Amino acid sequence: MPLRVRNVGHIVDSEVVLTDERLGDIAAILTNLEPAPGSDGPEWEMSLLIGEGVSGRRVRISLAPFISKTEYEKSFDEPFLLVGSPTSGSRQASTFALFRDRFFAPDRDPKGDKEREELVLRVKRAVYKEDEELSSLRSYVSNIEAALEFRKDGPQRTTIPDDVKLLVWTRDGGACVRCGSKEKLHFDHIIPVAKGGSNVAENVQILCEPCNLRKSDKIGI
Ligand SMILES: [Zn+2]
Repeated sequence: MPLRVRNVGHIVDSEVVLTDERLGDIAAILTNLEPAPGSDGPEWEMSLLIGEGVSGRRVRISLAPFISKTEYEKSFDEPFLLVGSPTSGSRQASTFALFRDRFFAPDRDPKGDKEREELVLRVKRAVYKEDEELSSLRSYVSNIEAALEFRKDGPQRTTIPDDVKLLVWTRDGGACVRCGSKEKLHFDHIIPVAKGGSNVAENVQILCEPCNLRKSDKIGI
């Protein structure tokens, strides 16, 4: 049966923040971990909500330095497996993985080296996927913003005099000066009008829409 892993928490500013609903069990395991040999590792804190409703209050608990300094540094390259003692009556797995300041828990304890290797691979995949998604989200948003900016700039482009357009069109061979495309072409101000660029032929070039968006991306307008 394949192992399933889920992100149960992360480290922010020396604090372990748990995000899983079965946080009680995980918190119990983390607080019961023995200090690592040497005890030179990071000293994290964890804040726990004790009680519910109006009587509920947050307490900060200092965790034992259960991972050594070297192990912590290595945990940015390879997931580090932590094995705690299972809490009585709990079926929660007591193995955790720490990778790039994120904690992962499998749905059950891995049995043997093969499953431990599987756990490591699944943790890596989860983190890489999350990072990849974040970076594609970032470029998606910046492309949309560039497109909106481009549309906002649009009407100003029409103020390029016809003789300048004709000159630029002939000079640039009726194609995008960056990639040679002949589709979706626009007259582009090399120095944007908003930044003081003028409508002279020297400041105008032909760009296709994708190249134009890439350009806006780079100069950050
Ligand atoms: Zn182009």
